[in-house]
Amino acid sequence: MQVLILGSGVIGTTVAYYLAKAGHEVTVLDRQRAPALETSYANAGEVSPGYSAPWAGPGVPLKAIKWLLMRHRPLVVKPMLDPAMWRWGIAMLCNCTHARYELNKGRMVRLAEYSRDCLQQLRAETGIRYDERSLGTLQLFRTQKQLDGTAKDIEILKAYGVPYQLLDREGCLQHEPALAAVREKFVGGLRLPGDETGDCFKFTQALARLAEAAGVRFRFGVGITDIARDAAGVTAVHTEAGPFHAERYVVALGSYSPQLLKPLGIRLPVYPVKGFSITLPISDPAMAPESTVMDETFKVAVTRLGDRIRVGGTAQLSGYDLRLNDRRRDTLEHVVTDLFPQGGSVEGAEFWTGLRPMTPDGTPILGGTPLSNLLLATGHGTLGWTMAAGTGRVMADLIGGRSPEIDMEGLGLARYA
Ligand SMILES: Cc1cc2nc3c(=O)[nH]c(=O)nc-3n(C[C@H](O)[C@H](O)[C@H](O)COP(=O)(O)OP(=O)(O)OC[C@H]3O[C@@H](n4cnc5c(N)ncnc54)[C@H](O)[C@@H]3O)c2cc1C
Repeated sequence: MQVLILGSGVIGTTVAYYLAKAGHEVTVLDRQRAPALETSYANAGEVSPGYSAPWAGPGVPLKAIKWLLMRHRPLVVKPMLDPAMWRWGIAMLCNCTHARYELNKGRMVRLAEYSRDCLQQLRAETGIRYDERSLGTLQLFRTQKQLDGTAKDIEILKAYGVPYQLLDREGCLQHEPALAAVREKFVGGLRLPGDETGDCFKFTQALARLAEAAGVRFRFGVGITDIARDAAGVTAVHTEAGPFHAERYVVALGSYSPQLLKPLGIRLPVYPVKGFSITLPISDPAMAPESTVMDETFKVAVTRLGDRIRVGGTAQLSGYDLRLNDRRRDTLEHVVTDLFPQGGSVEGAEFWTGLRPMTPDGTPILGGTPLSNLLLATGHGTLGWTMAAGTGRVMADLIGGRSPEIDMEGLGLARYA
């Protein structure tokens, strides 16, 4: 089958790889000069099925008010006259009930756990390297109240069979010894030993090379302008380099998916939620994190990626604005210098921003559309790196006419019907 994939972020590239391995003839289009140069470029590096949960949860509206008032705030909302933002925000609020949270989390964990297993298998089969580590992740609590508040999360982890360890200060130091220098700043942590870390950009670049070796054609520097359809389905994808045709089309354009789908009559509830990261060279490996330390107070993740530290966080609603903001950088610098003061130097850090393609319920949108030859692999929000390998496998199965290995209930566009 000829398949055209729109977008070569971590999602489009992973779908391309699995399709090629299944024997399909695959072409990938992207406006950038290489894979993973947009949101997949410098994320926080967590492959974290254990933390797979929607942002929309009970109590979040109240917490959001508190976050908006903090100096180093994890949430920023730029009031705009953007109907898409308000629609998305209201839909997200509607998902903040206990019942919706449980339903959405169940769907996300199902895909994320499967995805971690697929990633491990991919690593074993290909030997792909991407500064990966399998040392779990640690959610760090600065206050007793935060530590005591984990009961609900633990209930959910138990319900989904996710292994966890609730640690006191000394327990945290066994896994993250560099924190000994700042031991008075935290009281304990929740560790998820099954989680992994790694550089999403390096992974995507390496996987694109493997995909090319398996026959995938990447066409970079190609801006997609529109998708043409007739009554039966998609007839062509128009680009600055002319039209492209295939038997199946997969939209993996991250936050930019809704614009191209709207003229086809497909309304996608995906909105860009801006995040920021800094990447700094490690100056003293013994004083740097071993894996990911997620600072619960500021909602900032600090991850070791080879000889670098990646610090990522902030959720900002401000449309497609990609400007860098020094106040957000201050927050990231504050967290890493507070927890790992001798780990690396923030002066030489690379500052980056990306747009998480977020659905209001946190779950991505995978699979078919009302147009028979058009499929979606988008809306991965905060967890696109975590869910990439599973997404690739599922999409290849759907296109190849096989049943995916996981239940696809609630993972498709139909849930918004
Ligand atoms: C600060 C931050 C931290 C994060 N941390 C984590 C984490 O720790 N773990 C995790 O699992 N996830 C994390 N994420 C989320 C993760 O990075 C995303 O979910 C993921 O990168 C989305 O991948 P994608 O392939 O869907 O989108 P993208 O990577 O954005 O890919 C879409 C591609 O489409 C192309 N494109 C768009 N429009 C056009 C067009 N018109 N023509 C041609 N090409 C086009 C773009 O060039 C791009 O290459 C984080 C995100 C941010 C911002």
